[in-house]
Amino acid sequence: MLHHNVETFIGCDSSYRAAGIVLFGAPFDSTTSYRPGARFGPAAMRHESYGLETYSPYQDKDLTDGSVFDSGDLELCFGSSESALTDIESRAAEILRDGKMPLLLGGEHLVTLGAVRAVLRKYPDLHIIHFDAHADLRDDYLGAKLSHACVLRRCHDLVGDGRIHQFCIRSGDREEFRFAAEHTDLHKYDFTGLPELADWLRQAQVPVYLTIDLDCLDPSVFPGTGTPEAGGVSFLQLLQAIRTAAKTNIVAADVNELAPTLDTTGTSTATACKVLRELLLALE
Ligand code: MN
Ligand code: MN
Repeated sequence: MLHHNVETFIGCDSSYRAAGIVLFGAPFDSTTSYRPGARFGPAAMRHESYGLETYSPYQDKDLTDGSVFDSGDLELCFGSSESALTDIESRAAEILRDGKMPLLLGGEHLVTLGAVRAVLRKYPDLHIIHFDAHADLRDDYLGAKLSHACVLRRCHDLVGDGRIHQFCIRSGDREEFRFAAEHTDLHKYDFTGLPELADWLRQAQVPVYLTIDLDCLDPSVFPGTGTPEAGGVSFLQLLQAIRTAAKTNIVAADVNELAPTLDTTGTSTATACKVLRELLLALE
């Protein structure tokens, strides 16, 4: 039987009806503060995923055994962050309403805010686990409240104190670190403290949103990103952290900040694909 030539992330060809997890791309990078290109992230991940096996030897699981539906990319307005966020929020809300888990592919990190708005309406006691090189806690960036440099600060506006848990953070201005000391649970440099946090979140049975800014990885393995920051974690450290975080009650997640054209070797895209495969398998 012949089918349309529609590209999905490899192994994510469940029907929508049968799916437990729904992928959707937000190819948006209008507020990128340094090197743009994250808008090309979702399409590059789908295309390059064909270099990847669907089977994970780490987890002894296979994407083809699961039920992931890839709904493609949203068509977003590059000139209006608020309009783009509204569209992301509506798509996430629709997926949640159908009893499925939204998994958002960025795009720059601001896209997270749209998904968090929708998830928070369904789960008012939401906690956020955040992997990133950057604190993303600025109150504004050059006057803009909606910027990838402010995305966790905007999330804090919504969830309040003690419900944002940040790991691998190694960059930010002094004010961001002061803010974090009072209002978030910030862990510098690596995933120290994550197993204990995951145990606590699991026992408390609270819903969790996991946001992975891929620049938490060291630029030596992941240079294809807008604001590379030396001193990051390895792929295997991130894999372990994803599996630890997945022990909590994750209700939605995202992977963001791949800018594929900034790494012409393709290594960053291949790495992002593998992170997504392992995340999907850990969440199933
Ligand atoms: Mn970020
Ligand atoms: Mn970052």
